[in-house]
This record gives sequence, structure tokens and C-alpha cells, in this order.
Amino acid sequence: MAIIIDGAKLAQEIRTEIKNEVKKLIINNKRAPGLAVIQIGADPASTIYVRNKIKACAEVGVESFGFTLQNTATEQEVLSLISDLNADSRIDGILCQLPLPVHIDQNKIIFAIAPDKDVDGFHPYNVGLLSMGNPNALVACTPQGCIKMLKAYGIPTRGKRAVVVGRSNIVGRPMALLLLGLDCTVTITHSHTPAEDLPAICREADILVAATGKAGLITPEFVNSDQVILDVGISRTTNGKIVGDVDFTAVEPIVKAITPVPGGVGPVTIAMLLKNTLASYRRRMAD
Ligand code: NAD
Repeated sequence: MAIIIDGAKLAQEIRTEIKNEVKKLIINNKRAPGLAVIQIGADPASTIYVRNKIKACAEVGVESFGFTLQNTATEQEVLSLISDLNADSRIDGILCQLPLPVHIDQNKIIFAIAPDKDVDGFHPYNVGLLSMGNPNALVACTPQGCIKMLKAYGIPTRGKRAVVVGRSNIVGRPMALLLLGLDCTVTITHSHTPAEDLPAICREADILVAATGKAGLITPEFVNSDQVILDVGISRTTNGKIVGDVDFTAVEPIVKAITPVPGGVGPVTIAMLLKNTLASYRRRMAD
């Protein structure tokens, strides 16, 4: 039986810490940290993510500023909103919920957000700092949350073998850089890794991070009994159930530790968004 890495509990602990810090700010007559959340269009999954982020802000006392734009909004309208938010002194973090409608260039939007308000950690400036191992980077929330889980459960990283399945800018790549920064020997696999090679590569891992969105990709032949698995994937089955990339029922009895889906990486991701917003606030107030 594996240790179940309880993301929901860890996230609650982090939120409580943040809530206490924000309370102290308010007692000292400081303004609350502010997070701007932009949603373009009405993608149902995005609507749920945005709602959860705004709810999490309210719970800890971070002021949220929601902006919902029509699916037909032009790129210029979005850029103009971001420019206003960059200049707005009440706002410490700006996030634009992805995916964007196809007529909007995602890179243009990411590049337009001021790096010091880039609480998603997607701006090339922050990605550059991360790749240099610079601690001042605002780091993407999901991989940062994964590291938080490893640390909270005392899972060693130095000299360990880590395999990351998936190479997106949002999860896989920053995840690999963070593990590298913690002295892991890191392998990144992706959709062009020959499928017949993948199980053996994954089996070598002390830490396996699955971030593909392919439900049930990771089966017993991908794992070993000393392995810690962080399952980032989120897929909805035909009967509406949320599942990860790992065939949890088959794999959990074999490995040392594993995150469940739901209740694993997801809640910690949102907690890291709040943490980044507070960090960004503190830097701004210290200027
Ligand atoms: P993405 O589609 O941008 O990237 C998926 C990656 O998986 C790609 O790099 C691709 O090469 C790789 N891949 C796909 N099929 C593969 C296969 N068969 N073998 C090996 N590699 C394969 O997705 P993303 O934004 O990185 O998100 C990945 C998953 O994580 C999704 O399910 C997403 O919903 C989920 N996610 C969860 C959270 C969270 O908070 N828990 C946050 C972000 C993303």
C-alpha cells in the first residue's frame, strides 16, 4: 500500500498560513494583496478553474478582480486590459486563464503581462530565471506545487532519478527544471518518445511525474516499488469522473507514494497561485 500524498490537506495548511499573513497585513493597515483573473470566452473547464481561484482568494483574504471577456474579444482589447492591470497599484498578480480563443496569440498575451505580476510564471523572464536556477523566479504553480508535495512528505531528491512525462511550458518543462535544481538526474519524455520505450524509462524513476492528460497511461509496467508518483493529469471519463494519467487502482498497491486525482496536485496548484501573489505583493511593497 502506497503513502497517499494528500494534496487537499497540504493545500489547506498552506492557505491557512497565507490567511494568517494577510490578516497581519490588514491589522497593520496595509492593503490586501490583489489578483486579477482574466477569462476570455466561456469554456466550461476554464469557468470552473477561474471560480475555484477566485474562491481560494476570498478564503485567504486576497482581493480578486475578475474580468470576463466575450469569446469575440480582440487581441488588442485583451492587451489593453493587461496594460491597465500592469499599471494598477492594487494588483500584484495577473493571470489569463488558458486556453485562449484561437484568434488570440497566446504568446503575445503571456509576454504582455509584467514579469513582476506574472503569478502563473509563464513569462519568458521568469522562465529564464527558473532555467538559471535563480530563486527570484515566479515559478509556474503546478510544478511548484509538485515540489512542495515532495518536500512536505520528506521525499529526497538529491541524486535521485526523476522522469517527467510531458514537456509543456506549463507543467513538464518547468517541472524538469525544478527537479534538476534539486539535484535529480532528470529525463523528459513526450509524445515522440517511442511508446514501446516509455515503460522502461519510467520504471527507472525514483520520482515519476505524469503530465500528459492521457487517462490511465501509467500502468503497473511503468512503475517500481520504490517509486514516488506525482499525477498531474486531469481527464474526465465518459461517466463524468475526474481521473489522472495513472491507473491508480492498479498502480497504487505497487509504489511507495502517489498523489490521488482529484485531491492531489490540483489543490496545491491553487495554493501556489496564492503564494506567488503574496510573494509578488511583498516585493512590490518592499520597493
Ligand atoms: P499539454 O497538452 O500542453 O501537454 C501534454 C504533454 O504530454 C505534451 O508535452 C505531450 O508531448 C505529452 N504526451 C502526450 N501524450 C503522451 C504519451 N502518450 N506519452 C508521452 N508523452 C505524451 O498539457 P499540459 O498543459 O502540460 O497538461 C497536462 C495534463 O495536466 C492535462 O491533463 C492537464 O489538464 C493537467 N493539468 C493539471 C493541473 C493541475 O492543477 N492538476 C494543472 C495544469 C495541467
